[in-house]
Amino acid sequence: MLLAVANAIRANSEILAVEMVRETGNAIRTQARPEVLNGAAIFEYFGGLATELKGETVPLSPDLLSYSVREPYGVVAAIIPWNAPVVSFACKVAAAVCAGNTIVVKAAEEAPLTVLKVAEICSSILPAGVINVITGPGHECGAQLVAHPDVAKISFTGSTQTGRAIMRSAGDRIVPVSLELGGKSPSIVCPDANATWAVDGVIAAMRFTRQSQSCTAGTRLFLHESIQEPFLKALAERVSRLRVGDPMQEETDIGTLISERQHRRVTGFLEEGLANPKVRLVCGGKVPESLADGYYAVPTVFAGAGNAWRLAREEIFGPVLVAIPWSSEEEVVQMANDTHYGLAAFVWTRDLGRAMRLVDALDAGWIQVNDGAAPAIGPSFGGNKQSGIGREFSLEGMLESFTHRKSVTIRHSVDSSEI
Ligand code: ADP
Repeated sequence: MLLAVANAIRANSEILAVEMVRETGNAIRTQARPEVLNGAAIFEYFGGLATELKGETVPLSPDLLSYSVREPYGVVAAIIPWNAPVVSFACKVAAAVCAGNTIVVKAAEEAPLTVLKVAEICSSILPAGVINVITGPGHECGAQLVAHPDVAKISFTGSTQTGRAIMRSAGDRIVPVSLELGGKSPSIVCPDANATWAVDGVIAAMRFTRQSQSCTAGTRLFLHESIQEPFLKALAERVSRLRVGDPMQEETDIGTLISERQHRRVTGFLEEGLANPKVRLVCGGKVPESLADGYYAVPTVFAGAGNAWRLAREEIFGPVLVAIPWSSEEEVVQMANDTHYGLAAFVWTRDLGRAMRLVDALDAGWIQVNDGAAPAIGPSFGGNKQSGIGREFSLEGMLESFTHRKSVTIRHSVDSSEI
């Protein structure tokens, strides 16, 4: 049935992509269409895993067999954000249902429409009641769902602040939670990576074509001091080629921010950077007059900021990249890890030894070397520190997040005369 859902999403992908553009402002070519197809791929991936809910056997003694089974929790509550609504929905629904659960999804206030359309597709294929969607404000509808006595597991993706409230509420009932929260991820460019492939990688990692509304965005750009200036020059040149505009147009690379609230927030950070005499604007900044009608933000790079500054510490969730110079590996590791987040990290170098040392030292749940792509389906995904608890996106993530283990011991020879 999950495979049939995947096919049905593909068959309706253009309708879904257009709906997503309308409600989120994400550009159709670079974001909405790929996200819908990614949603289908997620249903397909988990559809193939339904026979993988296996347990273990433990040979305790000749007449004692111990084995474990994976059992679904029952009703899963999933609360999802607006920034990748279809992918978030697919990840939670496909994994929870594959593991035998039913699910109630709380869609984000800002982006419930495409999710409802995908849910309609699911409902036409899966039995009634397996997949349910509710919409409404987080503090009313989400909080009620989390506190409901029939909910046996909570899977949340959103801000660290809301994650904290959800965990507190789950604590009252001792219900397991998976949390995928915010990030302020480092993107570390080593001296040998002053080349186009690294510049393009940094741009991809920054998720500029999603208006950087991504929890895994590599928003702190640590540039080795020896290459800082040529790298920034090349970065500015390539970033300025990205076309910001009407998200429905095929030639547009970057659409609009999700809402007025986010627009105000991102503008606030921009103004803070522009007003600081120590900060240098490398590219972007104020939105041109032609884009004044809409929640647009142009990709912006600031240099000269310190790692301790608000611009470099808080998750902006908008296209504001902050470049910080470094000189020694020790120093860059210290700065990269000096954050309460630990979601993602990116390393750019062809020096394998250096890459492996940095991978070992960085405190993040997901690290990429010389690749700026979004999380793939298959490797477990999730954050360390205040970026989250638990892993999803994978077979192991499904087993850990959406099943509990039941251990069974059987004494199969109760009468010694039978041996
Ligand atoms: P953002 O600030 O980016 O919207 P949130 O963490 O507030 O991020 O939102 C993510 C999801 O969590 C949304 O679906 C939202 O409605 C929901 N939400 C917000 N507050 C609560 C809460 N107190 N309890 C449960 N869900 C909530």
